[in-house]
Amino acid sequence: MSGMDIAELLGRVEKRLLIGGEWRDASDGGTFDVENPATGQRIATLASATASDAKDALNAACAVQDDWARTPTRKRSDMLRAGFELVRAHGEELAWIMTTEMGKPLAEARGEVTYGNEFLRWFSEEAPRHDGRYVDTPEGNLRMVVRHKPVGPCLLITPWNFPLAMATRKIAPALAAGCTMVVKAAKLTPLTTQYFAQLMIEAGVPAGVLNVLPGSDAAAISSTLMADPRLRKVSFTGSTPVGKSLLKLAADNVLRTSMELGGNAPFLVFADADLDAAVEGAIAAKMRNIGEACTAANRFLVEESVAQEFGSKLAARLGALAVGDGTADGTQVGPLVEGKARDNVDRLVQDATARGGRALAGGRPVDGPGYFYEPTVLLGMGTDAGVFREEIFGPVAPIFTFRDEDEAVAMANDTEYGLASYVYTSDLKRAHRIGDRLEFGLLGLNAGVISNAAAPFGGVKQSGLGREGGAEGIAEYTTIQYMGMANP
Ligand code: NAD
Repeated sequence: MSGMDIAELLGRVEKRLLIGGEWRDASDGGTFDVENPATGQRIATLASATASDAKDALNAACAVQDDWARTPTRKRSDMLRAGFELVRAHGEELAWIMTTEMGKPLAEARGEVTYGNEFLRWFSEEAPRHDGRYVDTPEGNLRMVVRHKPVGPCLLITPWNFPLAMATRKIAPALAAGCTMVVKAAKLTPLTTQYFAQLMIEAGVPAGVLNVLPGSDAAAISSTLMADPRLRKVSFTGSTPVGKSLLKLAADNVLRTSMELGGNAPFLVFADADLDAAVEGAIAAKMRNIGEACTAANRFLVEESVAQEFGSKLAARLGALAVGDGTADGTQVGPLVEGKARDNVDRLVQDATARGGRALAGGRPVDGPGYFYEPTVLLGMGTDAGVFREEIFGPVAPIFTFRDEDEAVAMANDTEYGLASYVYTSDLKRAHRIGDRLEFGLLGLNAGVISNAAAPFGGVKQSGLGREGGAEGIAEYTTIQYMGMANP
């Protein structure tokens, strides 16, 4: 490792709970360990929040909700902007923390810092602009004032795969809207969020507005908070099964929810596409984050006549990628986040080969310490293979073939998920026709990566509810009040 004293850096990351502006140990003294997936070694031990700590955090959030809601939007905006500048100044440290706890290559971690930080800048700009309206009723008897008010204290739950961006995508709009919050980061990757919280405190976010609970017992934290009628909103990013269980809990108090859940993105390649551009896009859509992304291309659907050529080109490129520790120079593919994740990827590859799939590249775990898997391209299995239905969450690109546009669309939509989709074609009319028919919240047209803080991100079907980012992102944290005033 070069360029960063990682032990010194990790020593500066808070390991305790942030409640009411104070860092403190868990009420029962409990802790949990975090490891580096490139080595399997423990890198930190953090306080593990209990149900009683969760209650304290909500008390702290509720105590300052009114003050925070009354804080002028310009002031909230300035704090977000200060946070943006601090994240930029400490970007290299955040990137190293992220790579060390999550595994992604440093270059990608730096990319996530830039992307994640854009949510702070974007929502600092949105805060003063989220306006309502003031009009006469059509009959002229009343003046209507429609206001957006902060929804109230929120629970924000984030996954391990984008430890900074998934946090800023929730925290920034919640702050902009005037909500206080309790954040629960994934237990595999809490350090990035902890360090980010330190920066936000430095940026001036008042005590109690942002509370952070690292913890190994997510269910204890969420069930305690969601049973409390003072909590007004839960925003969750993670797997569909956990999202469903939270939706059931939310029903009891008719809690507002935003759900960013799993995906099974189709990547359609038509024979009229620029095939080299499609291969480039495929690498970006598949290999970003080692394939551990909800937007990762999960099924490559390629027109029969170009499938072999596309597969060979993709295999040559993926097979040549450098796999290794994300902090090492030149690494393009890091480890999977944990042993269980690698076992699951291998199970799906074995299942595909048992169903007629051939590995054009890779196909095996990498021997040695850490949880590495070879970048893999599979061709020839049927749609009964697990890789067609399940989120792979790893560096595996299964290719299926179609004969015509109708079949391509039917295959693409044949999933309970509806988050990201990608289409490569040079026929503009076809692009519009396909866009009309695809049941996905996001569509990349001749583009393999489309996430942007200014865009509404989210899915349909079992990929979730609500949108993050864009003008839509702040609305998730506000509620509408209509006041009808008698005309003078
Ligand atoms: P996960 O559902 O296991 O965990 C997500 C978060 O929920 C973590 O913080 C975890 O500690 C917490 N959690 C787990 N059980 C809980 C419970 N019973 N109550 C409350 N919280 C609980 O998901 P993961 O493995 O961390 O992340 C991978 C999943 O996230 C994939 O399915 C991926 O597609 C999805 N994801 C979706 C998006 C999106 O925007 N749609 C983005 C990133 C990841």
